[in-house]
Amino acid sequence: MKHERATEEIRELASLYALGSLTQHEARSFEIHMREGCTVCEQEFRRFARTIAEMGFASEEVPAPDYIRDLLLARIEREHQPAASDAAQSHALEAEPSQEGDASAVPAALPRQKKEKSRILTWVLAAALILLAVGSYFLWKSLQDTNNQLRANLTAARMDFEELKKEVDSQKGESAELRQVLAIAHKPEARIARLIGQAETPDFAGAILWDRQENECLVIGSFLPAPQGKVYQLWYFSAAAKIPVGLLQTDSRGRVFMKLPVPQEAAGATAVVVTLEPDNGSQNPSTPYRAAGRID
Ligand SMILES: [Zn+2]
Repeated sequence: MKHERATEEIRELASLYALGSLTQHEARSFEIHMREGCTVCEQEFRRFARTIAEMGFASEEVPAPDYIRDLLLARIEREHQPAASDAAQSHALEAEPSQEGDASAVPAALPRQKKEKSRILTWVLAAALILLAVGSYFLWKSLQDTNNQLRANLTAARMDFEELKKEVDSQKGESAELRQVLAIAHKPEARIARLIGQAETPDFAGAILWDRQENECLVIGSFLPAPQGKVYQLWYFSAAAKIPVGLLQTDSRGRVFMKLPVPQEAAGATAVVVTLEPDNGSQNPSTPYRAAGRID
């Protein structure tokens, strides 16, 4: 037998089947009925199955159709009436369990009562399943939103912290450098040479602070990063000799800030020169000079 249109009973059956709440026997006959080609029942079943799936897993809010709720409430209310009178009847039976006279009522009343109870239980179970599905979806969604929000806040805070740390580190570095500069500048025997960019590198600039008491010099420079396989080398020039002082390390921006020991034979030097040399430095400076200056 095929149905012409969906009735309340068909919807109930289809929704219970979709929720897996039918007995094995009921489910089997509903399946056979659908397989026999009742498109009305099959459509109803698919509609409920989709609704249930959406309530559990959709990424957007999917309200349960009103009619499911109405159906459930109406059914529970309707089933509740006979069940209540059954309960009263069963109460009466329990009060006089040993009386022989009412024995004929027992076999008739018990199966009916059991059946009604199991039907109510089925509806309560179905309602509970739907509430559970809706409730856990919203709980899951709200937890996920909270989690995403916390994660975003943490990332933002971490970024702020990194920025702040960089700033503090850079300030610390700068004040440490300034202290080194001032420590030498305060010494009366300190000498200074301004490094001036030469023809090929007019943008180079820097200074040599020469601490003659300690026989060391502080090299401050704003160069370009040395090309691959090359290195900047500092020389002290005196009237008699060109004395190699050391290799200069540039940072990623081509900045130099380092202390180098000054050899004894450079004591009478009058000029400083920076050249670009092969990786390990040279014994004699190459020309052209990259930066040079007079020692005052
Ligand atoms: Zn049908």
